[in-house]
Amino acid sequence: MTGAGLSVNSGIPDFRSQGGLWTRFPPSEYGTRAAMRQNPAKVWGMLSALYETIHAAQPNTGHAALAELEQARVLLGVVTQNVDGLHRKAGSHRILRMHGNAHILRCMDCGQRVDAPAEARCEQCGAWRVPEIVFFGDPMPPGVMEEAATMLKHAGGLLLIGTASEVWPATELPVQAVAAGLPVVEFNLATTGLGKRLELPLVKGDASLTLPAFAKALLG
Ligand SMILES: [Zn+2]
Repeated sequence: MTGAGLSVNSGIPDFRSQGGLWTRFPPSEYGTRAAMRQNPAKVWGMLSALYETIHAAQPNTGHAALAELEQARVLLGVVTQNVDGLHRKAGSHRILRMHGNAHILRCMDCGQRVDAPAEARCEQCGAWRVPEIVFFGDPMPPGVMEEAATMLKHAGGLLLIGTASEVWPATELPVQAVAAGLPVVEFNLATTGLGKRLELPLVKGDASLTLPAFAKALLG
């Protein structure tokens, strides 16, 4: 399971950290579906900044190590909180996106779906497009948690990478894994609150360094 920490070294600051998206565009004004309906032009100010950042970003050695582990059939897949598309760019195949997919845009009127990058307005009908991401207050995309739980049933363990997983439903998966008796290991800069509560072992450091070392140790 991966979060914002994994993409920091790809040039995407954590949305909540200094210089992150939400410090420039407060979520209450820019991050809700209601704001999108009421003032799409304003919300597209935030979305343009988001796309500028993620289109310029490249996967780092941490993303690459996960793709390599999946290729070697050691890793079943990735459950990610990130919308940056870097797992896909790195070559991962099984990707469960808890917060949706910024690379697909849907017209708010006619429903036509296109791949990003694309114009903010639909070429068919002129209405605004909206990315298929989870806005604040939205439910998770249907089926994602169920599929993650199924994947966990077939897994021998869970890695928590670059995520504080402090907020439900992100806490759900590690809690389920621990309850099932699976080893759960954090790959983070420091132990998180959840890590402390569940007494998880920590591989301390930047995941773009620790994951390649981990993959090398496993794959030789
Ligand atoms: Zn349209």
